Amino acid sequence: MKVGIVGLGLIGGSLGLDLRSQGLYTIGVSRRPQTCELAQQRGAVNVASVDPAILATVDIIFICTPLAAIAPTVRTVIPHIKADTILTDVGSVKQSIVETCSPMWPNFIGGHPMAGTAEQGMAAAQLNLFAGAPYVLTPTDQTPQRAIAAVTEITQLLNAKLYTSTPDLHDRAVALISHLPIFISAGLIDTCINPDEAEAIALAQKLASSGFRDTSRVGGGNPELGVAIAQHNQEQLLAVLSQYRDRLDDIIYLIKNQRWQEIDELLQETQAARPQFLNE
Ligand code: NAP
Repeated sequence: MKVGIVGLGLIGGSLGLDLRSQGLYTIGVSRRPQTCELAQQRGAVNVASVDPAILATVDIIFICTPLAAIAPTVRTVIPHIKADTILTDVGSVKQSIVETCSPMWPNFIGGHPMAGTAEQGMAAAQLNLFAGAPYVLTPTDQTPQRAIAAVTEITQLLNAKLYTSTPDLHDRAVALISHLPIFISAGLIDTCINPDEAEAIALAQKLASSGFRDTSRVGGGNPELGVAIAQHNQEQLLAVLSQYRDRLDDIIYLIKNQRWQEIDELLQETQAARPQFLNE
């Protein structure tokens, strides 16, 4: 199987490193020539070019560009590829991408490898990034079986844990456990930099430790990714944010009214529930 990778950044580069280490031939396309060179130097691709015509003979292509560039990239690539080439993407949001890309290319299947680091770009790519991590495929009723089979085979080479979902359910689930935390965490940091609290902030900065490090990590990450997520998963994100606001109101009510027993019950419940979300 000859694999094309478009967008040689953290995810595209890491994918290339893994697939080449498994003996697959990989062809890369990226926007900047220096990224193509670096990808070849690091061994993520056999060859790379800024010209999508290089993809003419590949069997499957992973579109690994930023969210907003995925559909335009599919449009750019289509004139250069074989009619039976399978196209898949790695975007963190699925509904809008699948809705736009499936009509453009019948052999399209949405996917989302749920692995990453705080870093970006080809320089940050790493071997085994996807090992043990979930990889969600979001086929529709029209997705050809061979497209599902081909991407499934690749997820096995990556040692990822395969899940299948509708695009809509995927977006709801990631809104809960991935996108909501980004904005809660950003809200936390924003609360802590309130200029009216200068003296307390100065001391807090010296006292902050592992609890703050854990709860602020995703809110202090890549702004570009956060904005793209808010734009592309707006509906689901707003739904879970308003649920969260209701929970906050409940908690404020309980504390204001000294309902210590109910607060204890809430915290018992959340303590018991947390491990169900940590697949360690
Ligand atoms: P990244 O490290 O910034 O890499 C994206 C690469 O795409 C860049 O290196 C850039 O290459 C290229 N690119 C940028 N704009 C482009 C455009 N308009 N047209 C063509 N190529 C373009 O980003 P990433 O973290 O790998 O994310 C890529 C995709 O993976 C996103 O859709 C994201 O939702 C998804 N994803 C990310 C994570 C994560 O944690 N990072 C996890 C799962 C899925 P040049 O250097 O050539 O410009």
